[in-house]
Amino acid sequence: MFEELRKLYSTGATFDVAFRKERLRRLAACLEAERGALESALKADLGKSAEEAWLTEIGFVEREIAHALRHIDRWMRDKSVRTPLFMFPGKSRLVAQPRGLVLIISPWNYPIQLSLSPLVAALSAGNVAVVKPSEFAPATSHWLAEHLPKVIGSDVVAVVEGGVSETTEILAQKFDFIFFTGSTRTAKVIAHAAAEHLTPTVLELGGKSPCIVVRCGDVESAARRIAFAKFVNAGQTCVAPDYVVVEKRLRDGLISALKKSISSMYGPENAPQSMAHIINARHFERLERLLGHGEHIIYGGARQAESLVFAPTLIEVTPDHPIMRDEIFGPILPIIVAEDGILPDAIIDAIEQHPLPLAAYLFSDSKKDVRAFRRLRCGGFVHNDALIQLANIDLQFGGVGDSGHGYSHGYAGFEAFSHLRSDFYQSSGSRFDFSIKYPPYTEKKMKWLRRLLGH
Ligand code: NAD
Repeated sequence: MFEELRKLYSTGATFDVAFRKERLRRLAACLEAERGALESALKADLGKSAEEAWLTEIGFVEREIAHALRHIDRWMRDKSVRTPLFMFPGKSRLVAQPRGLVLIISPWNYPIQLSLSPLVAALSAGNVAVVKPSEFAPATSHWLAEHLPKVIGSDVVAVVEGGVSETTEILAQKFDFIFFTGSTRTAKVIAHAAAEHLTPTVLELGGKSPCIVVRCGDVESAARRIAFAKFVNAGQTCVAPDYVVVEKRLRDGLISALKKSISSMYGPENAPQSMAHIINARHFERLERLLGHGEHIIYGGARQAESLVFAPTLIEVTPDHPIMRDEIFGPILPIIVAEDGILPDAIIDAIEQHPLPLAAYLFSDSKKDVRAFRRLRCGGFVHNDALIQLANIDLQFGGVGDSGHGYSHGYAGFEAFSHLRSDFYQSSGSRFDFSIKYPPYTEKKMKWLRRLLGH
């Protein structure tokens, strides 16, 4: 399988823009034709409604494809950079080359989006790819394995299904690039395996993304945006607000607005409608354990082990509660009440006690707060909204520190899957081949060289 992929790559076929566009168009046509089957697969794996499946997965990938098709000619164009006078009449350029054979490893929470969005970038940049979807979303994994090689070409894309042992086996191969989306823990295994071959990586990870509500004049709208960002896909979203810190005087207003927003989106308390379910029993039980005896619950808390449905749940805790240790990755939203007038620096210091998050959300009307948050290190920062940053393809997406490194989406994805080769083209012959650059270096030559080099 790897040989077949490498063979096609070595013919140079993928360097042709028409080849790349054709593959992208085939993928787009397949998504359209297979929409029903994809919705069923996402329903089976995660209980997603058809609307949510389109909004957060299928439609997302379709937009990535349309964007790539619109811009690929420009992305592929060589970029001229300045050439100093002493290199006259040479020309300097950055040339985007495909990386070669790439490996895409994806998680289960958005199994279509997070397998196909990197694949769109990989194909746009002219690579051949192996995709390894998550074993915990088997229906979508089977769909990918059945359709991708057939539609795009088995010499361009291969899909390997399986879990830890299969991934370990393929990681022993030398890839030219690895794009991994998943947990920080697994990322260390991937980075280790990649280091064996000095393979570059992009690591798209997770973390505890904080949501801060201070000096906020409209808690109703803040609550609506927070509730949407937290409970879409039952909280199993890498950039979902992990916890909320709210000023004491805003506490009651925010909590009652959150309750109102949740019930208007998902129906009455503890009877959620059209909500995705938890991926499997292991994660369901992990979330149950986080609730302990339920003494901190202020809303929700109901769940059903057979259907894996877990109702949107609000809990009120202090910063030392065990739920504040790791990423929650489920529909439980802890609320921490801070003293009135808490300074932004104190909040930032508290956030930085945790590993650096993938996103941070600030709901505040104070320009001073926004300015202060410039020093917070996080993958992305959003003022007065949450999760919506993903909808802008031009806003590159990526983590920092424990939440990952490297970028994806739109041009950033194309660039991640490319090697920017530095090219320099000089004229032949001796006309501009000045003897000044060659030894022996007399004092006079050195004087001119210093001048030419700008000293
Ligand atoms: P995971 O790390 O358990 O699994 C991700 C992939 O790695 C899967 O394909 C899995 O089969 C493989 N894998 C797991 N353990 C492995 C091992 N020991 N060796 C080799 N391969 C292994 O992650 P998950 O549970 O599927 O996804 C949840 C995590 O992903 C969360 O932390 C979430 O924040 C993160 N995430 C990040 C993004 C992002 O774009 N930054 C998006 C979605 C999810």
